[in-house]
Amino acid sequence: MKSYISLWPEKAQLPDFPRAISILGATGSIGTSALKVIRKHPELFTVTALAGGHNGTKLAELCTEFRPQFAAVLTNQARTDLMANLPTDYTPEILVGPEAYVELARLDTVDLVLSSIVGAAGFEPTLAAAKAGKMIGLANKESLVLGGHIIRETCQKSGAIILPVDSEHNALFQGLMGHIEHSEKALSRLILTASGGPFRGKDTEFLSTVTRKQALAHPNWSMGAKISIDSATLMNKGLELIEACHLYGMPPSKVDVVVHAQSIVHSLVEYTDGSQLAHLGTPDMQIPIAHCLCFPDRVTVDVPQLNLAHVGTLTFEEPDATAFPCLQLARDAYAASPSHPIVLNAANEVAVAAFLDETIRFLDIPAIIESALERHSTVDVTTSDAVLSLDQQVRREALSTL
Ligand code: NDP
Ligand code: MG
Repeated sequence: MKSYISLWPEKAQLPDFPRAISILGATGSIGTSALKVIRKHPELFTVTALAGGHNGTKLAELCTEFRPQFAAVLTNQARTDLMANLPTDYTPEILVGPEAYVELARLDTVDLVLSSIVGAAGFEPTLAAAKAGKMIGLANKESLVLGGHIIRETCQKSGAIILPVDSEHNALFQGLMGHIEHSEKALSRLILTASGGPFRGKDTEFLSTVTRKQALAHPNWSMGAKISIDSATLMNKGLELIEACHLYGMPPSKVDVVVHAQSIVHSLVEYTDGSQLAHLGTPDMQIPIAHCLCFPDRVTVDVPQLNLAHVGTLTFEEPDATAFPCLQLARDAYAASPSHPIVLNAANEVAVAAFLDETIRFLDIPAIIESALERHSTVDVTTSDAVLSLDQQVRREALSTL
């Protein structure tokens, strides 16, 4: 199969249907959307493992319905909640703690891993799935931000295949497919669209007083809390820019961002002859998730078909780099060295958690990230241990500055 994605091995082998799936982050927004797709097409999947984090009660509901052989949670409290809510006629094998996700990512009986944990916690399980040569539906963009260089090498060795769940990267994947067979040189630019988040068009003065509730109110997408704040600061687009560079082997100078408030055009691929191929669709994550989990087949999903006459107007504008500095911070971090994106991500996770706890203000988020990047001098991050150790160090330092 042609490798449209730089991380794909030379000879990618997709598993047959039904595909045995392990869902990491099953209780989250992406996990919930994936299970809607699976519920609609049960003949295409065997749900072998479901992993949640803290929400044992919700995981129990999902396990009761899908009956996976394995379940995982992060804490003993979540295990207690999970066990208390399971039916008496069903006993899954329950794993607890961070290493549980690594186990469920590399199970022999699993073909397909949906990596949809939020944050840097997704890196080790994604890497484990890559080492085990799985087909991976990748929602956890932070994995590539931390160690895209390590994951690329691992996929080449193991034969693991990454399918991009992130809607923009899925759109790019579809815009590349069938168009670069003859010459990869025909590709000139990738253009990521950004909704602009809830504060599109607002200035720094306005942003200085915005609340957690305002920041969480995304106009187009329903998502987990962390990515919603990342969308409000535009850091989400910064992380996505790095994700696109890793996935498609493009330099950051050839990845642009355009703000598109309606979230109908999910991204564009530009070719040297001036053609731009756009991917359009109703903004619902079931669409890219179904594309990845069933690739190369296409299946129906319970999302209204896009009606452009009802949408009426599509608008595009440049991002505002003054009010939303996070995008440029990410671009600069990727250009600086492989260790800078790790610093960017760790400082961002600490800052976003503090903003969600209402202990810092919205504009403190870019300030905390910028100061972490200023303190950093490039270090070697060619191993996963080095990546994780830098991640922990930056978190400790960023926390001490709050
Ligand atoms: P959510 O916050 O909704 O869900 C996160 C999931 O991860 C939950 O199942 C949660 O469990 C689990 N989890 C949280 N922390 C840990 C941990 N330390 N170890 C193991 N599991 C953990 O996030 P989203 O679904 O919105 O996002 C997931 C990923 O997908 C992110 O990387 C995001 O950037 C990416 N993404 C999301 C999109 C979206 O539309 N939501 C779009 C594109 C990408 P519990 O709730 O039980 O604690
Ligand atoms: Mg996205």
